[in-house]
Amino acid sequence: SRNSIKCFLKRNLFVLFTVVAVALGVVLGFALRPHNLSLRNIKYFAFPGELLMRMLQMLVLPLIVSSLVTGISSLDSRASGKMGVRAVVYYMVTTLIAVFIGIVIVMIIRPGKGSRDSPVANSGNIEPVQAADAFLDLIRSCVTELMPNLGCSFLQHKTVYKKVVHTRNVTVTLNLTDFFNMTESNLSVNLSRVLHTVQETVEESVPVSGSSGGVNALGLVVFSMCFGLVIGNMKQQGQALRDFFDCLNEAIMRLVAIIIWYAPVGILFLIAGKIVEMKDLAEVGGQLGMYTVSVIVGLLIHGLFVLPLLYFLVTRRNPYSFIGGLLQALITALGTSSSSATLPITFRCLEENNHVDKRVTRFVLPVGATINMDGTALYEAVAAIFIAQVNDMELNFGQILTISITATAASIGAAGIPQAGLVTMVIVLTSVGLPTEDITLIIAVDWFLDRLRTTTNVLGDSLGAGIVEHLSRRELQNQNAEVCNSVIEE
Ligand code: ASP
Repeated sequence: SRNSIKCFLKRNLFVLFTVVAVALGVVLGFALRPHNLSLRNIKYFAFPGELLMRMLQMLVLPLIVSSLVTGISSLDSRASGKMGVRAVVYYMVTTLIAVFIGIVIVMIIRPGKGSRDSPVANSGNIEPVQAADAFLDLIRSCVTELMPNLGCSFLQHKTVYKKVVHTRNVTVTLNLTDFFNMTESNLSVNLSRVLHTVQETVEESVPVSGSSGGVNALGLVVFSMCFGLVIGNMKQQGQALRDFFDCLNEAIMRLVAIIIWYAPVGILFLIAGKIVEMKDLAEVGGQLGMYTVSVIVGLLIHGLFVLPLLYFLVTRRNPYSFIGGLLQALITALGTSSSSATLPITFRCLEENNHVDKRVTRFVLPVGATINMDGTALYEAVAAIFIAQVNDMELNFGQILTISITATAASIGAAGIPQAGLVTMVIVLTSVGLPTEDITLIIAVDWFLDRLRTTTNVLGDSLGAGIVEHLSRRELQNQNAEVCNSVIEE
């Protein structure tokens, strides 16, 4: 019909806008680079991009809460239990596959081989992170104050601004501490050592804008799930609350529909701003270049072949047309380097373009964006083994196994915000006695790899929603039938 043609045009026009925005951003960025803009001017220039980032982040809290609460309370507990188990199995399996691909690639390419003359096998002075502490930290961030800096957030922004103006080094410290989800216990000791070195050596390469937002998504997810379960069991009494969250979710999605019109502009400036700000590419040669290539190859194999194959095997549908519907979300992930900030767009793409059942997306997406990070896991493994190679350290099988497990844990613990994975890497490095200072080796290219791994993370979450929907189709149908019956009875 004419309506559906119009709809089709509108949707594709939109993807076209976004792609053009990326291209324009790249061109504009490179055109402005020779002008050596000051840091202050770059910040002014990139402001439309920062605004998009903030608009999206603004939606994350109400979106996660309303979607999880309605998602869980509208399913009966048996159905949500089954769906939950399927999602978690999918997350674990794909994350481990990603780690495996990363390890194989970095072992084949060997980007860090033959560099330092003297082996620095074990830096010794850093206390290895105890697995138990890391585990407790993970639990801590599951059960937590939801808005820790409510009330002081205005001041916080102001401080960040001041420090940006004065020195860049201080900002590095701020960003990394902000991003780190597990600041408790002995991790912070190690972290402060890393930060110390980072301050001295990197200066320019870490993003200056400290827009990390103070919300602990993991805590929010756990709270909303429990809350959803409780009001789901409240029968008639809970109806008002269920309606409330359902309506809230609907309203938020309408806000998303408005913001989405601004997205291409924001993405243009996010990308252009980053290109103006980045270091000279000529410096990224040799080992670091090969390391970058290893991560990219790994992400491409995982994102373009392995995940689509899995989707095809389970659903028998064309994975690439599914991915086509996600383009807007993938480009937003590329622009924002944050799976949390991309979440609103991911919801829209899956529900509007790919027609994935809302009961599935509402349940699975917020959890996926918070804990399922295939790209990050792959990157953590590659980076750790690269650093081992640079240090001429031969890893035995046990150590490689340790790296796979800690890389998985580090990807679960990383928040869906820019460069969070760089910080949780401390866990992976210390687990096999690698020097954490060597994180500085890879910081120069991290902003770029972060964008690519975030895109992979979002792709993994979305294909996961498609797979879980397919596997849960029977429960979903049963529930439809029950709803029908009860309506007829009434
Ligand atoms: N930026 C990534 C994300 O939001 C996390 C990471 O740093 O790896 O998914």
